[in-house]
Amino acid sequence: MELEKTEEVSGRDESSRLIGDYQDGRPGPLFFVLGGLHGNEPSGVIAARRFLESLKVHQPPLRGRMIAFAGNLGALEKGKRFIERDLNRIWTDTQLRRIPALLDRGKAPEAEEQSELLLALEENIPPPPHPVYFLDLHSISAPGAPFTCIGDTLANQRFIGRIPLPAILGLQESIDGSLLEYMDNRGYVAVAIEGGSHNDPETALRHESALWLALVAGGGLSPSDVPDYSMHKNRLESSMKKLPRFLEIRYRHGIRPADEFVMKPGFYNLQSVLAGDVVAQDRNGPITIPERGRLLLPLYQGQGEDGFFVVRELPWWRRTLSALVRILQLWIFLPCLMGVRRHPKFSHSFIVQTRTPRTVALFNLFGFRKRRQNETEWIFSRSRNPFAD
Ligand SMILES: [Zn+2]
Repeated sequence: MELEKTEEVSGRDESSRLIGDYQDGRPGPLFFVLGGLHGNEPSGVIAARRFLESLKVHQPPLRGRMIAFAGNLGALEKGKRFIERDLNRIWTDTQLRRIPALLDRGKAPEAEEQSELLLALEENIPPPPHPVYFLDLHSISAPGAPFTCIGDTLANQRFIGRIPLPAILGLQESIDGSLLEYMDNRGYVAVAIEGGSHNDPETALRHESALWLALVAGGGLSPSDVPDYSMHKNRLESSMKKLPRFLEIRYRHGIRPADEFVMKPGFYNLQSVLAGDVVAQDRNGPITIPERGRLLLPLYQGQGEDGFFVVRELPWWRRTLSALVRILQLWIFLPCLMGVRRHPKFSHSFIVQTRTPRTVALFNLFGFRKRRQNETEWIFSRSRNPFAD
């Protein structure tokens, strides 16, 4: 089903970046919502617009403020993921430093979008320790269950634990330059909400329900202040079916245009897969699943750098143990391990020579994620968010 014509998102003008702004004077957190960071994902913009309208009609006693912006306006107008560069892969320090030069040269559509979004963030986000919840609304090309993505901090886990959708950890280890990681590193609770497939009208409805529940989860509203609270909760719970509550990335199949990657038809998001299952093919032949798990984000669209991911359940005892070692700050003992030393330049970072899957599991337990690697060493670092753990 296509989205209704009246709700199409198109046309770039002065007012289209800001979707809406709602507050009624009570102190509280900032809920910063972004829709359409990818231009072929209009559901987030539609949901944020409807949500702000609903806030204005019902006028619940919101503690704090909710403000919503549209992401890649040029790409939304064309219904494409991006024009030249993926706006959700260019939030690295190096890329951000390049913005002025790109703007001077002209004809850099995503640099323009990025500088406008940076301004929106700067102008509206209060300084720490004011609580900020960043809610980044996306959709996917495959059918299947909705889910959320978070950086691996205890604050993110606590927040998302109150919203009934499967949460994926570790995506930032696999992709560089997402806005989610940028916001996570600045000390905010940051969640990407993947509401479902691009053109399914249910996707915007799930986004709306997730926004209501996010306002409750962040302390902006009480459940009794939400019109139809049980309906919103049931809508998300029923979309979860029997999926695990927390999962982590085990494998990413990265692709380039020259690979001629094609996903086999019929796969859906978060379906179970076994090692050896053939799920796609490229110019070198069939592509198989490396280990048992669930298939995440199978790519059924032209643009994108990720063919698919494999995720697996993160059991409750691993999360409990992980929370304990972080609260006790046991990571200070990590340099006692053989082949591990503190990074000379970056805080909360270690250089590791022992490159095995066990090393990754150990560092993940302590809240560290693999960021970069060279020929002989890995670098693990923790969110720079001083309020997160
Ligand atoms: Zn997206």
